[in-house]
Amino acid sequence: MDQTTKKDNLNQKESLPCEQTGNFLWEDAPDEDKFSVCVHCGMCLDACPTYQETGLEHQSPRGRVYLIKSVAEGRMNLNESFKDPIFQCLDCRACETACPSGVQVGSLIEEARGQIHHADPPRGVKGTISKFFLREVFPHTSRLHKLGKLTRFYQKSGAQRVLRKTGLLNILPPHLKEMEQVLPEVGTPVKASMPEVVEPEGEKRARVAILTGCVMDIMFSEVNAATVRSLVTNGCEVVIPKQQECCGALQVHAGDRETAKELARRNIDVFLDANVDKVIVNAAGCGAALKEYGELLQNDPAYREKAEIFSEKVEDVSKFLVDLGIRKPEGKVETRVTYHDACHLAHAQGVRQEPRKLLENIDGVELVELPDADRCCGSAGIYNITHPDMAGRLLDRKIEDIPDEVEVVAMGNPGCMMQIALGIHRHQRKEQVLHTIQILDMAYQNEQKQKQTRFIEAAATQEGSGSDENR
Ligand code: SF4
Ligand code: SF4
Repeated sequence: MDQTTKKDNLNQKESLPCEQTGNFLWEDAPDEDKFSVCVHCGMCLDACPTYQETGLEHQSPRGRVYLIKSVAEGRMNLNESFKDPIFQCLDCRACETACPSGVQVGSLIEEARGQIHHADPPRGVKGTISKFFLREVFPHTSRLHKLGKLTRFYQKSGAQRVLRKTGLLNILPPHLKEMEQVLPEVGTPVKASMPEVVEPEGEKRARVAILTGCVMDIMFSEVNAATVRSLVTNGCEVVIPKQQECCGALQVHAGDRETAKELARRNIDVFLDANVDKVIVNAAGCGAALKEYGELLQNDPAYREKAEIFSEKVEDVSKFLVDLGIRKPEGKVETRVTYHDACHLAHAQGVRQEPRKLLENIDGVELVELPDADRCCGSAGIYNITHPDMAGRLLDRKIEDIPDEVEVVAMGNPGCMMQIALGIHRHQRKEQVLHTIQILDMAYQNEQKQKQTRFIEAAATQEGSGSDENR
């Protein structure tokens, strides 16, 4: 679309529904520079989980890029034939790894969803619930913490047992009922329980801030605690900004770019004010979103530059520690581990070797490679809730690939942790699901225990020899 037409469309956005013009009408329309570089070679097809499952061209990266181009050129409307493949996409970015032309399919999909969100805002029961959580719950820390307390009460008071026994949970759709069964035990959020600045152990090597996240700090607060402890052990002063917000990734995936932008602006201000060397993230999806703030705010002159500066500081915890020079733990963790590459770590951030190096650095850990480790598990934000069938098929493949001999499946994303725990439960398997950093933390904790044992033994020996001398 030429620039004049685009501008005209933007000016008419209130009066011209998209279905009538067949064009993208709102800000952040899919960029011609991005879709025009697709040469239709098809090298992305085999990498795409939805194409692998359906064999349908419109459920492939090439097909989706073509549809986006068609709408941009006014040859197609924002109708169901467009919306379905755009929302069936997992936004897993496996196609970007495979594409020789560098087509940014993920970014195009997210921009297309933004247009659909304007043209046809979420409605009905599902739409209202998702809008409520994305706008009224995740971005509000106090509400999230209340929800966490409520869930903890549900888990601890016996209500969970009663509801399960009486079969009342049968009113839930089957996939939600299964999810309830693997819900992790809610702990204490790190943002509320730890001080704003945690001092390093030994000589200070870096000053970093940690993104505690929304769901992460409620459902996986132990991962956040393990992250802080590991950073501190490695000589980092850790800042936990209390005013930080949810990263906005789920909102971008759902097409609600306005809410995501609001969250991004607040995070940029808070983290830049913290004056840190790096912003450390332990959730792949959040890390990718933070690294893309520059793109999200490209049309915001007040924040465009600040967003780029901020994004430069964002780093996954495994990459940060390996680059810093990780202190080898003296403690052992005797276990066989396989590692699942979260899409937003491997494909979106190119972080593949560092988590493996981190695990290999721990005595006792035997790393067994997972076949197709970087194929999506079906979690994909809230995809497993909105598209349970496709998500379930991908999950089954992932679980079947887990080598029989492993005891632990490690990964770097809370969504994948929930999804793979669900698959293990569904397939009646026994593997434990852990975040990579939790295994490192275990090794440091074992080191502490060994030191304490040695100290007690040495004290006992000294006491023994002292009493011998006194005789
Ligand atoms: S997205 Fe990339 S790999 Fe796929 S068809 Fe286009 S150019 Fe080829
Ligand atoms: S992001 Fe994933 S699901 Fe979407 S087109 Fe690319 S490979 Fe397929």
